[in-house]
Amino acid sequence: MTEQVVSCPCGAAKMTVRGEALSQFYCHCGDCRRMLGGAYALEAVFRADAVSVEGATVSFALKRTPRVSCAACGTRLYADLPRLKMRGVNGTLLPGFTPAFHMHCSEALAPVRDDLPHFAKMPAAFGGEDTLVDW
Ligand SMILES: [Zn+2]
Ligand SMILES: [Zn+2]
Repeated sequence: MTEQVVSCPCGAAKMTVRGEALSQFYCHCGDCRRMLGGAYALEAVFRADAVSVEGATVSFALKRTPRVSCAACGTRLYADLPRLKMRGVNGTLLPGFTPAFHMHCSEALAPVRDDLPHFAKMPAAFGGEDTLVDW
């Protein structure tokens, strides 16, 4: 099984990610945008037990989703999705990040025009619906 070990920029937190991502995408939801201070988030979702971290972390939640970051430099490591038993790893830390779609595009501040599907909300595979926006 493939295993990737990635560090935050300061090196205080090391995250080990085992196996292949279940899903990789861009998320434009307000929760991701506000927590990251960016236009959208790069997410690589893995089974929760495939992601482990060494080093001190801090966790903040704006609504429901706890976002776990390095305690020293604040870089986000993953979003915890305990209801789904999954973790959404910060895709900017993964060299092979290859997103398959955009989601929560109806909330987007900065539309990205590319060839990927642009779901208005969460896609049906995640319990949402496959409605698309036209960008
Ligand atoms: Zn989001
Ligand atoms: Zn750090």
